[in-house]
Amino acid sequence: MSILRVILGDQLTDSISSLNNCDKSEDIILISEVIEEATFIPHHKKKLVFIFSAMRHFALDLKNDGFNVIYNKLNDPDNSGSLTGEISRLIKNQSFEKIVITSPSEFRVLKEIESLGKKINISIEILNDDRYFVEIEDFKQWAFNRKQLRMENFYRDQRRKHSILMNGIDPVGGQWNFDSDNRKPFNSDLKIPTPFTNFPDQITQEVIEMVTTCFPEHFGEIEPFIFAVNRHQALQAFKLFLEERLLYFGDFQDSMVQGEPWMFHSHISFYLNCGLLLPKECVYEVEKLFFDGKAPLNSVEGFIRQILGWREFLRGIYWLKMPEYLENNFFEASRNLPQMYWTGDTKMNCLSQCVTETKKNAYAHHIQRLMVLGNFALISGIDPKQVNHWFYVVYADAYEWVELPNVSGMILFADGGLVSSKPYASTGSYINKMSNYCENCDFKVSIKNGPEACPFNYLYWDFLDRNRLKLSSNFRMSMMYKTYDRMDDSKKQKIRDDTKTFLNSIDN
Ligand SMILES: Cc1cc2nc3c(=O)[nH]c(=O)nc-3n(C[C@H](O)[C@H](O)[C@H](O)COP(=O)(O)OP(=O)(O)OC[C@H]3O[C@@H](n4cnc5c(N)ncnc54)[C@H](O)[C@@H]3O)c2cc1C
Ligand code: SF4
Repeated sequence: MSILRVILGDQLTDSISSLNNCDKSEDIILISEVIEEATFIPHHKKKLVFIFSAMRHFALDLKNDGFNVIYNKLNDPDNSGSLTGEISRLIKNQSFEKIVITSPSEFRVLKEIESLGKKINISIEILNDDRYFVEIEDFKQWAFNRKQLRMENFYRDQRRKHSILMNGIDPVGGQWNFDSDNRKPFNSDLKIPTPFTNFPDQITQEVIEMVTTCFPEHFGEIEPFIFAVNRHQALQAFKLFLEERLLYFGDFQDSMVQGEPWMFHSHISFYLNCGLLLPKECVYEVEKLFFDGKAPLNSVEGFIRQILGWREFLRGIYWLKMPEYLENNFFEASRNLPQMYWTGDTKMNCLSQCVTETKKNAYAHHIQRLMVLGNFALISGIDPKQVNHWFYVVYADAYEWVELPNVSGMILFADGGLVSSKPYASTGSYINKMSNYCENCDFKVSIKNGPEACPFNYLYWDFLDRNRLKLSSNFRMSMMYKTYDRMDDSKKQKIRDDTKTFLNSIDN
């Protein structure tokens, strides 16, 4: 009897474990677009176009390769609207020996599949997702009995284990981490290359029409749609990064430039997260360029740390701590997300730029997400659930397993320090150092108080003051508390007053 092999929208790779030993003449591959997945979070329109188009292209590639594929489009009249509904619909009419699926990347979907397994008479085999460097069980073992889970320790262990950028037992270059070389402000003599651009083919155009009709209320702009939508194109996009951007990736990893959303980043997260690219191939390719003398170590190490370090570490945290992780709110933050996160309508130039680019591209690079959008949400005390919702909606690479630990762990410190040793909070001076946003802002970054002052400047100190009980014992914060305590009472009062006035104004 044949096997039903189910492939999800973020498993678009022919080496996915659910296709192992597939009998092309017998087995059925099921791929379904479903309204439930498109709307349980109102994803950015560009993300929906990207995923549906990539799914359709992948199904076509499998068919051309001789697989028996059943592809259910979102607007098929019989589409039940849910993933489990589509599986149930198929097994009603056809007998299968078993159902095989690679473990879903998200907790919610895994639970749905497990609960379907209890309701039907066919067994469901859930296989490991072997696209990652670290299996979930191995991460749990690594984490077991450790007092602190720190990315840096995890990353070094993975470098050793997989022998990546190693010189025997030592890291190449004599250092594990070249972060201090990777914080250069942008040098305006350099030309930032244009990003990989793929024009929509007929399949993508059909999807654009469907998304425009079915999801008019969703956030974001579809056009211009330039993403790769199949593996061949995603490999081209990655190659372009290696040729044109990797050289400066490290140097300008933390810098932000007005009107330059793409900088020297790789723009591959959406491809990695849906399976068009594989993390291992990207890491090994970049490592090879270093050993061939074709790429500098600070760029290569920086890139590899993001994937082998942060990406794998945060996935491990997610699976270690779900579902409780969803509820974390260490600072008991409760402010509503201001409307400007959706409209970009604010006099704060940095925020306005980052939101506007996000709306247009479904992309913002890491330091925009961390030090502008995230920093503001942290120091103004926005409810973590609302911040998570926003980050999940707006980015083409957003999947809960990677979005949630970045938001609740890295930016909001909502997990009380599981992911970060201290909150990534800062005044406007960091944004000013790493960007040219402040040159075009109505607020003055050099002014600390009053209506002209950069809001980050007083919000930062008010955040420390409000959360003293929870933070002052953190030795990495002690210097900042000493600085705050040296301020006279009238200065502290100004900080409180400015914060109140400003937050009231954005609430309204
Ligand atoms: C608040 C916040 C939310 C985020 N949400 C997501 C998300 O939903 N999905 C997502 O893939 N990334 C997320 N990130 C991480 C990071 O910002 C994006 O992966 C990155 O901006 C994608 O752009 P890029 O491909 O050009 O990355 P590059 O800067 O070129 O980095 C290369 C790759 O490293 C990986 N990477 C880098 N940083 C991280 C990180 N912190 N966590 C996990 N992987 C990382 C990505 O796969 C990325 O493609 C978030 C970061 C923050 C601060
Ligand atoms: S002055 Fe403040 S609000 Fe304006 S761009 Fe600079 S950091 Fe942002």
